[in-house]
Amino acid sequence: MSELIHLEERKPLQAKPDQSSLTFGEVFTDYMLSFEYSKEKGWHDLKIIPYGPIELSPAAQSIHYGQSVFEGLKAYKHEGEVVLFRPEENFKRINQSLERLKMPKVDEALLLEGLKQLVDVDRDWVPDGEGQSLYIRPVVFATQGVLGVHASHEYRLLIILSPSGSYYGGDSLSPTKIYVEDEYVRAVRGGVGFAKVAGNYAASLLAQANANELGFDQVLWLDGVEQKYVEEVGSMNIFFVINGKIVTPELNGSILPGITRKTVIELSKMLGYDVEERRIGVEEVFELYERGELEEIFGTGTAAVISPVGELQFKGEKIVINHNKTGTVTQQLYDHYTGIQSGKLEDPHGWRVVVPHYER
Ligand SMILES: *Cc1c(COP(=O)(O)O)cnc(C)c1O
Repeated sequence: MSELIHLEERKPLQAKPDQSSLTFGEVFTDYMLSFEYSKEKGWHDLKIIPYGPIELSPAAQSIHYGQSVFEGLKAYKHEGEVVLFRPEENFKRINQSLERLKMPKVDEALLLEGLKQLVDVDRDWVPDGEGQSLYIRPVVFATQGVLGVHASHEYRLLIILSPSGSYYGGDSLSPTKIYVEDEYVRAVRGGVGFAKVAGNYAASLLAQANANELGFDQVLWLDGVEQKYVEEVGSMNIFFVINGKIVTPELNGSILPGITRKTVIELSKMLGYDVEERRIGVEEVFELYERGELEEIFGTGTAAVISPVGELQFKGEKIVINHNKTGTVTQQLYDHYTGIQSGKLEDPHGWRVVVPHYER
């Protein structure tokens, strides 16, 4: 049995939100996981504490220089059990992000154990409606209060939890409109695009807002050097169905290596599809469309799982994919993916991790 992590009790507990009106990331559970780092002690003081405001030095390096990384995953309730999906992948990735920002790595197994205990304590917060989940947000940020530009000597790790509604509002998949960004770039090779760092999102907001104003849902980023090759969408990786084959940009250092991406590649192969990870130009996408060879486009990410793309616009030219309907491959992958996640389908790879009931 694992050792119990210290729990600072919250009294009274909060009232829970109405499950039918859940949105995303606005309501938080009773507790959070907290871990601290100092140069002298290393990572220490792992504990579960009441969710609430924290004290932070106004000179904290994360605020000034952006030394901050995060993760995102979900817990689901199915037939009374609470289940995580491939959580070890998120802790593996947070260490890659930490390393890139010269931040101290964490013990992946210990953090996964901490997460399980946290989710167990808050298990009544996990919603069980169709498509609903408990969104899990680990974040690590520099806390040392000095203005010199060097790696901080102090850090804090928190895992906060937010019950979330269905991405599609309970409806079936709805295709999104995507604007191919030809002015701004998100990341360049050698930079921090492959890491889940806070600043990548700050860098994306202006283009995202501009695209929204033009009536698009999301931005498709091109490579940061030539602005010719497809990279990814907002917070999703992107896939194309071309003549029955599944094609996605290869990981090149500036693309975020999505866990949904990785899982979709594995699932597609299991289902008998050919999958190609390669460089794909935006011009090529439009040419394939003209020739009638581009069948479907979809994005992948923890929030939406799989999101069909209905429209793509690049430099004023618009293409409508699959008559703005969810394609059969997209739907098949979505059904299979969510079927395994929810426990309706068999899970041959052990992707589902059940949260145990701990005796407290
Ligand atoms: C998190 C993220 C993704 C998707 O990753 P998942 O692990 O599948 O959730 C894709 N692109 C960016 C930029 C991201 O931050």
